[in-house]
Amino acid sequence: MITLALSKGRIFDETLPLLAAAGIEVLEDPEKSRKLILPTNQDGVRVVLVRATDVPTYVEYGGADIGVTGKDVLIEHGGAGLYQPLDLRIAQCHMAVAAPAGFDYLRAVRQGSRITVATKYTAIARNFFADKGVHVDLIKLYGSMELAPLTGMADAIVDLVSTGKTLKANNLVEVEHIMNISSRLVVNQAALKLKTAPIRRIIDSFAAAVGSATVPA
Ligand code: ADP
Ligand code: MG
Repeated sequence: MITLALSKGRIFDETLPLLAAAGIEVLEDPEKSRKLILPTNQDGVRVVLVRATDVPTYVEYGGADIGVTGKDVLIEHGGAGLYQPLDLRIAQCHMAVAAPAGFDYLRAVRQGSRITVATKYTAIARNFFADKGVHVDLIKLYGSMELAPLTGMADAIVDLVSTGKTLKANNLVEVEHIMNISSRLVVNQAALKLKTAPIRRIIDSFAAAVGSATVPA
C-alpha cells in the first residue's frame, strides 16, 4: 500500500491532475466527505488528509510514504529525513514582508531600529532578517497575521501573498519580497527503499506531468 499525504484545498485540488497523470483517481471529494482516508481507483494507493503543516511530519515518521507540501512548510519543518525529488510548481505564491502604509519600513531598517514582526513563518523570518542584519522581535501567530499591525501588536508581518487582495483589504503594503513559494513532492526515504517500484512510478509520472527532471535520491 502506498499512502499519499495531502492537505485539503489548493494543494489537494492542484495535485489531482498530477495524480490523474499517474493513473490515480481519488474516489471521494474531501469537501463533501468527513473521511480522513480516501480510497483511489488503485487498490494499492490511498490518500490521507492532514493539516498542511503536518504533511512533512506524516512523511518523516512513515504515517505516509509520500506527500505534497509547500516550500514554506518544508523550510519551517526543516526537511530532516525527507527526500525532495521534485518541485511540482503548484500552489504558487511568494513570501513577503508587509506593513501598514504609514509605517516607514525602509527607514526603520536603515536606522537599525528594532522592529516587531508577527508571523507563522518564524524560521523564514528569522533567517531573512538575520541576513539583512535587521534587529527583529518575532511574535509567533497561527493565522490572520494581517491583524497584528492593525492592532498595534507588530510593525510588520511576514506572510504568503498571491494576489495581494488580503493585504490591500487590510491597508497593508508589501515592502520586501522574500522568496517564491511552490509545492514539492516529499518522500519517506525508508519507504522509497522498500517500495521502490510503485513510488518511482508516481514520482516519474508527476515529473513527466510537470515537465521537470527529478533530483536523485
Ligand atoms: P493552512 O492549513 O495553514 O490554512 P493553507 O491551506 O492556507 O494552509 O496553505 C497551504 C499551502 O498552500 C501553504 O503552505 C502554501 O505553500 C500554499 N499557499 C498558501 N497560500 C497560498 C496562496 N495565496 N496562493 C498559492 N498558494 C498558497
Ligand atoms: Mg487554509
